[in-house]
Amino acid sequence: MLESENNKDNRDVNHLSEIRNIGIAAHIDAGKTTTTESILYLAGKIHKVGKVHDGNTVTDFDPQERERGITIFSAATTVFWKDSSINLVDTPGHIDFTMEVERCLRVLDGAIVVIDGKEGVEAQTETVWNQADKYEIPRIIFINKMDGVDNVENRFIACYKSLEEKLHAKILIVQFPIGEYQGIEGIIDLIEKKAHYFQGDREENYQTKEIPANLQEKVQTYRQELLEKVIAYDEKLGLKYLEGKHLSSQEIKSLIRKAVLSREYFAVFCGSAYKHVGVKLLLDGVVDYLPSPLDRSKITIFSDQQEKEISLSDYPVTLGLAFKIVALPFGKLTYVRVYCGKIPANSYIYNVNRNKKERVSRLVQMHANKQEKVSEAKMGDIVALIGLEYTKTGDTLCSEKKDILLESISFAEPVISLAIEPKTKQDEDKLNKSLESLAQEDPTFHYVYNKDTRQRIISGMGELHLEVLVERLKREFGVEVNTGKPQVAYRETIKSTAKLVEIEYFHKKQTGGAGQHAKVKLEFEPDEIGKDFKLETRLRGEAVGKGNCYVPAVEEGLLRAFSAGPLLNCPVVGVKVTLTGGDYHEVDSSDLAFKLAGYYAFKENTEKFNLTLLEPIMKLEVSNIHENYYGTVLASITSKRGIVEGIEKKKETYLLKAKIPLSETFGYSTTLRSLTEGRGTHSLQFSHYQEVPSHIIEELVGKK
Ligand code: GDP
Repeated sequence: MLESENNKDNRDVNHLSEIRNIGIAAHIDAGKTTTTESILYLAGKIHKVGKVHDGNTVTDFDPQERERGITIFSAATTVFWKDSSINLVDTPGHIDFTMEVERCLRVLDGAIVVIDGKEGVEAQTETVWNQADKYEIPRIIFINKMDGVDNVENRFIACYKSLEEKLHAKILIVQFPIGEYQGIEGIIDLIEKKAHYFQGDREENYQTKEIPANLQEKVQTYRQELLEKVIAYDEKLGLKYLEGKHLSSQEIKSLIRKAVLSREYFAVFCGSAYKHVGVKLLLDGVVDYLPSPLDRSKITIFSDQQEKEISLSDYPVTLGLAFKIVALPFGKLTYVRVYCGKIPANSYIYNVNRNKKERVSRLVQMHANKQEKVSEAKMGDIVALIGLEYTKTGDTLCSEKKDILLESISFAEPVISLAIEPKTKQDEDKLNKSLESLAQEDPTFHYVYNKDTRQRIISGMGELHLEVLVERLKREFGVEVNTGKPQVAYRETIKSTAKLVEIEYFHKKQTGGAGQHAKVKLEFEPDEIGKDFKLETRLRGEAVGKGNCYVPAVEEGLLRAFSAGPLLNCPVVGVKVTLTGGDYHEVDSSDLAFKLAGYYAFKENTEKFNLTLLEPIMKLEVSNIHENYYGTVLASITSKRGIVEGIEKKKETYLLKAKIPLSETFGYSTTLRSLTEGRGTHSLQFSHYQEVPSHIIEELVGKK
């Protein structure tokens, strides 16, 4: 367990203007984890800093993440810097976790984008940049790994040029690095006009000096460029500058802050997280330039199925979004961003999505994996709640029973599935409980037990997603499992052009004991896909029991029949069924008899319905395609039944947008790597279900 080094932890940060809810986003390996570590260390939270190389870092406390070296699960950590309280939300970087990245971005007010000084802007920097644009998040940039570069100045220039060219970002240079050929030795702060020198990898060996004479001119040039970009953000200060008067550091910072908050400009910092070089200045930058919750005074809510914008400061109820659930041995932590109002410990809160009152027994702030109790969470805070039973990731919490959602419910359909079974029979129960916990944490993960095939099926958003979950079962829950091959989650349906089919089914049995008598007349026709099934009725008089009491039984029987269709045993969707008549018997009719009638009415007539197969179609984006590979990438997409929908040219590279069947994407990352010499990257997201071409249905059904 980590110790706390100073008593800053207990400082109550009362003022909203002093809170920063920020995330660190980066391309994998750019140094997100190392930067987080350095921040925790410098802000006095930990004595000894873990190094990613050694696999003992603090934020990546999931053992699997350490091994893979990628940050998958976000952990929110609070640190104190100067007079501010910084809540650091660690956002996952891999595309298969897009939902989680987006949810994390949603609860942030600002972000640090880390880029690798040796590489400049990489493919995934672009992805996270676009996501941050979507959520309107102001950013500052940290050019990391400047310790390992040959020519510090050239690298710095190349990096900020790549920001301008690849991200089309307008940047503000607030500092520049100094050093010759052995990496960064110091940083010139253009606002305070100071030179900071670093030696070795101890942050104590840090000296602040006057700017050396040989750099004075460069400082003047950079400073002037900076000022000319930002003076437009304040009329009074702009005038002062134009009149040739001196602007104080505070005044310049206030101008930069306005420029960054406008999202028109991005302030650029540099250093080496590994050696703690420049990280203190970066923290100053977070406080000086990134927004507080006050700067995001409005949010969008969904009420009565309509979007509305509300002003947070005077909103009459408490609203919070549960953005992350982590199951720990001693209980569950529900991470919540409080948008308005307050949540005291030992209280109740209403979960809008589940329609449940939840007890909040304790509130804690997390400092990496150390907890600190707090008595209440206020507007703008990010805290973990303990005691909630029903809340799932993405749920809205409210002080009153109200119809308000912070996140529109998105029907993220799991599109890929795997059969799993425990390696030992004794682990059956443990496996069920573990799957339940995982499903609570992650709304895009589902699991079912198919009684017919006696298989347990888990489904999720991509190959890596399921791989990671299977690993977690082993490591966190101690359950070893065998898995089948990944399968596309097909659906079966009646062809949209099919005519209405009438079925009359009489379920009758009279051999000894109580008889069974249930007759149903049903109409089957195509319906909208994605709608929940509900049996319609058009009955005259009492056709199915007294007061037509057997209607629910018929519906249940049909639902059971729809759980596995005749083509590939996949769920049947998009079918409208209307019960138009039937017959019952005073003595021999029962719920069971009508359930069976509903069930067999479908099962025994499947060849009459003109059934077909639906497959998930994915939105595919391939970025960073160089001109030389453009043709082959395009051909690879069309050869996989993909349809190209858009092409954007970004300087020398192309971004290709297409729709492609999921079944054609297995192993696509390997194909793409070889087609583009490792430079192209892609992302996949579910789009919709679409009918499978008939020759492929034949192949699939033939293989069954
Ligand atoms: P993440 O995937 O973005 O979280 O990146 P990590 O923090 O895990 O870093 C990836 C690799 O780069 C690790 O081996 C780090 O030790 C190394 N690294 C991170 N920051 C620096 C730095 O400032 N300098 C050097 N030389 N290496 C670094």
